[in-house]
Amino acid sequence: MTSPLRILLLEDNSTDAELIQDLLETDGLFFEITRVQTRVEFEGALNNVAIDLILADYQLPSFDGLSALNLALRTHPNLPFIFVSGTLGEEVAVEALKIGATDYVLKTSLSRLVPSMRRALREAGQRTERRKAEEALRRSEMTLAEAQRLSHTGSFGWDVLSGEINWSDETCRIFGCAPGTKPTTDLVVERTHPDDRMLLRKMIDRTSIVRAAFTTERRLMMPDGVIKHVRVVAHPAASDNPESVLFIGAITDITSRKRAEETLQEQANLLNLTHDAIFVHDLNEIITYWNRGAEKLYGWTGEQAKGQNAFNLLKPAFPAPLEEITSELLQTGHWEGEVVHTRKDHARLTVESRWSLQRDAQGTPVAVLVTNSDIGDRKLAERERERLRQLEADLARINRVSMMGELAASLAHEIKQPITAAALKAQACGRWLSHAMPDVTRAREVAGEMITDVMRAGAIIDRVRSLYARSAPQWELIDINEIIREMTALLRDLAIRNAVSIRTELAVGIPSTTADRVQVQQVLMNLMINGIEAMKDSGGELTVVSDRTEDHQLLISVSDSGIGLPANECEHIFDAFFTTKPQGAGMGLSISRRIIESHGGRLWASPNSGRGATFRFTLPGKAMQSSRHAV
Ligand code: ADP
Repeated sequence: MTSPLRILLLEDNSTDAELIQDLLETDGLFFEITRVQTRVEFEGALNNVAIDLILADYQLPSFDGLSALNLALRTHPNLPFIFVSGTLGEEVAVEALKIGATDYVLKTSLSRLVPSMRRALREAGQRTERRKAEEALRRSEMTLAEAQRLSHTGSFGWDVLSGEINWSDETCRIFGCAPGTKPTTDLVVERTHPDDRMLLRKMIDRTSIVRAAFTTERRLMMPDGVIKHVRVVAHPAASDNPESVLFIGAITDITSRKRAEETLQEQANLLNLTHDAIFVHDLNEIITYWNRGAEKLYGWTGEQAKGQNAFNLLKPAFPAPLEEITSELLQTGHWEGEVVHTRKDHARLTVESRWSLQRDAQGTPVAVLVTNSDIGDRKLAERERERLRQLEADLARINRVSMMGELAASLAHEIKQPITAAALKAQACGRWLSHAMPDVTRAREVAGEMITDVMRAGAIIDRVRSLYARSAPQWELIDINEIIREMTALLRDLAIRNAVSIRTELAVGIPSTTADRVQVQQVLMNLMINGIEAMKDSGGELTVVSDRTEDHQLLISVSDSGIGLPANECEHIFDAFFTTKPQGAGMGLSISRRIIESHGGRLWASPNSGRGATFRFTLPGKAMQSSRHAV
């Protein structure tokens, strides 16, 4: 022993006290004695002196041993207390031990004292150890219970052979049972959601046989119908019964996590419905959410973007200093403006950006939700709409041109009338002049009327020309592929209505040409509409191909699989007013040929080897110098 054994000795007899001291010394004990004789001294020592063991005489003049024992037990319940007495009746001794004395030694057999002290000290040491262990256990149990409560995780044990289950308070709570409820397999099944019971039974059966660790998520249903989601993880361990296995597991109530996941998923689904690029970043600009629109607009997938710094990723250029934007955002919760972002392919794009500050339940800002609409797209769409409007206007004019065919018959009649009249008047005029006495006055009159008739005919022709004449011809550099694409888009609807699909084969890197865009559109449209009409009873495919010839001309062909060219009339189809259609004007091909020829190209038709016909035209592959011919 490194420190002395501190003994409190209650003994009124000095001789006895010395005797005891001698005895202990003889036995080689390293000790320190505090000797007291009265109750006051005893109490004082108990309260003020550090003591390892009490030796007390049983009979004292002022105060008896049992009272001393009671006093000691009250303040030092674990201190070894040994009676050392001259006389101690059997009954008193038993009583003393019952109350809590550690031992008693008669003064007549003091040789027992040291062994008794040693045993008492040893036992007291063990008791302290045990108490500490118990305390530690209790504390860890409390910690465990607290941890289980906080993490919504309970524990359980399940012996597969006996079916015996025990569970922690938290597991009991998760199952919605009153504290202390004894768990049984039946109870567990009863609390399982009806739809999951079958699965549970199967799992119990399988686990009893396979005896392997398992993890599962399932639903519980409380007696009041409330549904809980739980996650169960269990591992096999040795059971008391060598035949059996004890599963030790944890069960976690994941209901709120499931709900949160569902809400998040719903929100994410909603955000994915929009075409806007939406992302969320925290206050360190770290991206935590990235919707499908953002994937499309910026080119990075959600996986690539999440966890990145939004500013590093998108390299934004703001319309105002960032400090101003941030302070507006913090003050009002919102900010809006045009921001230039960089895509994954390094292209820069301008977006209409709307920021909204996200706060937690306490109102502390936690994140920023950024919604970006691509205005580049919007501008493009506006341009596209403008072009379609232009096309529509041109189309209306072209319609007037084809209407002219329908008008041809009545026009012919109208024109024929004044011309016939003029011819009759010319005859009359001749007659007045060939008389023996030429009537010059009448002849002049008739000639005047004749001029009026001819003028009338001229006016009718002018009116017809104005139907399709355009004020100013416009020569520009055109991309034939673009015109084919436009026409394909414009006629798609008509084609679909006639069960025709349009396929294009556009040569890459084809040279541009100088042409009147509207006139070339008109030619292509005539050829495509004719092709569609040729297939309107059978359906089929219209193929438009752009290519270049060896002598660097553009070669455009329009093929159909329709009724084919009228037999023996192959060249006549280009004549004005030639038509085989009941409502046809017979003007389309003649006008088209004149347009193409005025551009320095050629337009011709040939029957396909199978069904249908192919119309081809060429255009010079480089800027044309010659002036434009009248159409
Ligand atoms: P319209 O279409 O008003 O008849 P067009 O000058 O465009 O006037 O065509 C003249 C004629 O040429 C048509 O009536 C038709 O007989 C013939 N034709 C034109 N295109 C085709 C085609 N793709 N397949 C068969 N015949 C065609």
